[in-house]
Amino acid sequence: VDTTTGAGTGEGPGNGSRASGTELIRFDKVTKRFGALTVLDELDFAVDTGKHVTLIGPSGSGKTTILRLLMTLLKPDGGTITVDGEYLTHEKKGDKLVRASERHSREVRKKIGMVFQQFNLFPNMKVLRNVTEAPVHVLGMSKDEADQRARELIEMVGLTEHLDKYPTQLSGGQQQRVAIARALAMRPQVLLLDEVTSALDPELVAGVLDVLRDIAHTTDITMVVVTHEMSFARDISDSVLMFDHGKIIESGPPDKMFTEPEHQRTRDFLTSVL
Ligand code: ADP
Repeated sequence: VDTTTGAGTGEGPGNGSRASGTELIRFDKVTKRFGALTVLDELDFAVDTGKHVTLIGPSGSGKTTILRLLMTLLKPDGGTITVDGEYLTHEKKGDKLVRASERHSREVRKKIGMVFQQFNLFPNMKVLRNVTEAPVHVLGMSKDEADQRARELIEMVGLTEHLDKYPTQLSGGQQQRVAIARALAMRPQVLLLDEVTSALDPELVAGVLDVLRDIAHTTDITMVVVTHEMSFARDISDSVLMFDHGKIIESGPPDKMFTEPEHQRTRDFLTSVL
């Protein structure tokens, strides 16, 4: 039965939008299985508004599953996920908490933007249109407003001179920067980054990370980041969570996590990626 009650604070979600310093994302006893494999086992964690949280840990430890659950690309087998005070996975029907309808999930998910390892741009659309498409068709933004906002974002990622090109005319790093602009064009409250540089040629990685550092340092967007780029993680993170077999085995500020981790498994992991 999946009618778990809400957050452990006793308040429960639904109190409207939150100010900085309050919880934006909460996982409450979230379990995810694939067949006989339990990938997440009653996972609890929360991300405060405006914070940048990096998930690290060996391959297969459940990091991407967390992002996919937030994007509603996967559904949890147990527990609840809350975004900005609203259930993502559930909705209230009278006094009862039931599984969210597609429609409800889609509404809550508008608060979330994601950039994937593979950039997934629309191949038949030029750069500008890639960035304006969803704001116009999903948010109902006017074409002029979407256009102006897209131009600002494209400038921010350093691609103004490429506005009029198709994705295949760009390098992988440039395509990924368009994907970042496209995600931000939806004005999400949280940006999820899933190993966004791991499909790039090494010489293109720095340009993408520079853009993301800039966004992290100059905007108030909340970020949840999965990366193997440890120096980037150190630069942008407020906190680092070390996962192993779907559990957080250690967490803390980057200075502590990268210089004096407590767990041997964290030390072994960092040795393997640094
Ligand atoms: P990470 O991002 O830490 O590398 P993932 O969240 O991608 O880990 O995967 C966690 C575990 O779940 C892995 O063992 C992976 O093989 C398994 N897994 C992920 N997605 C699926 C799926 N769609 N079907 C079956 N197993 C999956």
